[in-house]
Order: sequence, then structure tokens, then C-alpha cells
Amino acid sequence: MQIEDFFTSKVVVITGASGFIGSHLSERLLAAGNRVIGVDNFITGNRKNTEHLAQNPHWELFEQDICDTQGLNALLDKILSKYDRIDMVLHFASPASPPGYQRHPRETYLVNSLATDSLLAWLRGHSPESRFLFAGTSEAYGNPQVHPQPETYWGNVNPNGPRSCYDEAKRLGETICGVYDRDFGLDTRIVRIFNTYGPRMDLADGRILPQFIQEIRRGQPLTVYGDGSQTRSYCFIDDLVEAVLRLAASPDGAGQTVNCGNPGEYTVLQTAQICNQVAGRAAEMIEFRPLPTDDPLRRRPDITKARQLLSWEPKVAFADGLRVMMTHYGIDVKN
Ligand code: UDP
Repeated sequence: MQIEDFFTSKVVVITGASGFIGSHLSERLLAAGNRVIGVDNFITGNRKNTEHLAQNPHWELFEQDICDTQGLNALLDKILSKYDRIDMVLHFASPASPPGYQRHPRETYLVNSLATDSLLAWLRGHSPESRFLFAGTSEAYGNPQVHPQPETYWGNVNPNGPRSCYDEAKRLGETICGVYDRDFGLDTRIVRIFNTYGPRMDLADGRILPQFIQEIRRGQPLTVYGDGSQTRSYCFIDDLVEAVLRLAASPDGAGQTVNCGNPGEYTVLQTAQICNQVAGRAAEMIEFRPLPTDDPLRRRPDITKARQLLSWEPKVAFADGLRVMMTHYGIDVKN
């Protein structure tokens, strides 16, 4: 199945369009000949991420807080009357890095719960044939007791800790999608996104790879939290975009929840060593800091379902993706 089997000349609304993932989705859909209407309040998104799209006649960007339900409804009314239909909504608006959502806890839980419901309620009333895809997260698994994590695992999440405003709100967002799918007959789809990296990440957002890249640019040692034995898997943005849009396009995707990520698993310490090597620095140029509360110990997607349903497989090796990302940020990389 090709993305273009569904996505040609479609009218697509993307919330969080000027964020890291939203901007890449916008670019890819525009390249495939769709009309893309971006919505962002720039709380953590960056206008610069979509500036290069400004000249494209099929692109439009609105500044709107989608937690303001009245404002959101008025905007959706306007988009519908202008384009006559909305084929799909991709709901990607949310702070996503631990420091980002901890700085904006209320905005984070509202955009994933209230705004998810508002978007779906509007679609139910005005455009019930539209597809809706929700950006879920591997954080839904919390500190997992099952490894790797399949979609059928319900997770091990602290309901009241420093990550809860994100984890629990994303879980509630999934619940809301399920209600509209089962009870109200809408076409909702959920992608559970594991750690993703690439150009246009906010280097100040505190996530591991942006943080390391910033430290490399400053000639500083890489800060590893804890002893660095916790693990993560890293998916390059182009692979992730391919998976998300395949799920969105799939004729069998309605009501489905699908993990998307790269199953390659690295300890945080290995991650730091690889980053140093790719940047041509001594592997051990590392400094240890205390481990944050509720930092998940292990994370790795089971992508059996994505392989079967979407015929999708990540293609970009970690070191290759890092070279692309570091080059984007002006670092002289080694092969
Ligand atoms: N981490 C680290 N140094 C940093 C930033 C993060 O060692 O400068 C660790 C963090 O403790 C976690 C992992 O890297 O174990 C991934 O953190 P990130 O903030 O990227 O996202 P998470 O996967 O925890 O949501």
C-alpha cells in the first residue's frame, strides 16, 4: 500500500503542524499533492519549522489555541466552508518533551483530552465521514513490565507524578478516540509514537538527542542521567512519517492502535557514546547526573502489528539518521 493510494488531492487538517513531527507530515502531504491546513498556537511549535511552506498555494497555517473550543469550532467551520470538505484530521498538537510538558502541564492535559473531544465532537456534527488520527505515545506504557511493548499491553503508569500530565492525558485521548469509534461510528486511528528524532527538533527541549547535539555544539561533555543503563529506541523522522501516513491511508486502519518506532534498543550510555563517535569526539566524553523521577527503565516497540497491517519497516540505521540530524545542526560528522 502506498500513501498516495489515499492521499491525493485530500483536504487534511493538522493540529500542531509547526511542531517537529507536524511539520514533516505537512511537508510530505504537500509533496503528494494534498491541501494541508495547519493549526498551531506555537506553545512549543516553531513558526520557522513551516516557513519554507509559506509559498505553497496548497498550504495554509492558522494560529489557534485548540483548547479554546469556540475558537476551534469557528475555525473548523471556516475551513469547511472554504474547502467544502475535510477528509482527515491529524491531531498532533501537544508539548511532547518531558521539560516541555512539565512547563505546560495544564495545556498538555487539556490539548490531549478536551481538544481531542472538541475536534471529534465537531467532526461528528459536521463531517462524520472524516478520518481522525491521534498522536498517541509510548508513554502510554509508562515504566513497562512487559518488554518489548506490544499494543495489547496496558502499561504501568503513575497517575499522579511528574509525567502524568502527558501520559495520562494521552491515554485519555485514546479512550476518547475509542468512544467516538465504538459508540458514535467515527473513523479514529491511534499511532503510539516511540522516541523519534531528526531535523527540526527543538534543541532546547531537553530530550536526549537534542540535548546531546546542543552539548556537542558547545564542546561540552554529554550529560547522562542515572548510570545510563535505561534504554530507548530511536526512530528517524522519515521512517515515522511513512508509518503514520500509512496508518492514516490504510483501508484497514479504522479503530486500530499501532506502535510506530524503531525496535533497535540502546542504553542511554550507548546512545551518548554513539553520538560522540559520530561527531568525532572521544566516546567517553560524558558526565553523569541524577536520574529524574519516574524515568522509564526500558522502552522498545514491538512493531509486529505495523509490519503486518502497514507493511512498514523502519529503514534508517541509527548512526545514519544521527549524521543527517547533526549535519542539519552544523556539526561536522564522521563516517
Ligand atoms: N536523558 C539523559 N540526558 C539528557 C536527556 C535525557 O540521559 O540530557 C535520558 C533520560 O533520563 C531518559 C532518556 O534519556 O532516560 C530519554 O529521555 P527523553 O527526555 O529524550 O525522553 P523520554 O523517552 O524519557 O520521554
